[in-house]
Amino acid sequence: MKARPVTPNLVRLTRLGFVNAYLVREDDGFTLVDTTIKGQADALIAAAHDAGGEIRRIALTHGHGDHVGSLDQLKQRLGDAVEVLMPETDARIHAGEQVVEGKLPGGWPKLQTVPDVRLRPGDRVGSLEVVANPGHTPGHVAFLDTRDRSVIAGDTFTTIGRPEVASHRNLRFPLAATATWDGAKTLESARALRALDPTMLVVGHGGPLHDPGAAMDAAIARAGR
Ligand SMILES: [Zn+2]
Repeated sequence: MKARPVTPNLVRLTRLGFVNAYLVREDDGFTLVDTTIKGQADALIAAAHDAGGEIRRIALTHGHGDHVGSLDQLKQRLGDAVEVLMPETDARIHAGEQVVEGKLPGGWPKLQTVPDVRLRPGDRVGSLEVVANPGHTPGHVAFLDTRDRSVIAGDTFTTIGRPEVASHRNLRFPLAATATWDGAKTLESARALRALDPTMLVVGHGGPLHDPGAAMDAAIARAGR
């Protein structure tokens, strides 16, 4: 697990070079946003210790396997010391509800862990505000850090190769588009993130973007053609 500071409050953790999770610093320790793939609990806990705290909360951008992969193992290791927060609609999908017509794209592994909180837009997770961002999955959310207006965009954008909206074909990372549930909604969500005028954009796959406005505009324009 590779750990790289992005801002004083944000550490990017990367597995296999292209799957990210994030540590968000709070007064009581860290919120871990996403968990990468299976088998990474010890590495994620160690990364938090190296960064100077405990994982207090696990907040998920969406229910796909490359984001919830180590959730059960983390919950086993951390027990009641950690609170698990999942976007409401994706939590309902994981609970076995049929929330949309037809088969959902992307990997939805079976989870033992039942989230303590089902997140809704506008909710707060420490310093983070939950932003509605459906499209890549039906319940996908992004997180706005209200301290510095950095945005954790999950899979609404990817930045491998160049920044793209996840619904747009990215030759360097085709997985994001093929795993996307609704392209039009993803594009709408990309515009909603742009409207937040973020100072920093970090994503599930690829590196961070400082002052991302122009790059987001270009990606939105390509995806909207
Ligand atoms: Zn992903």
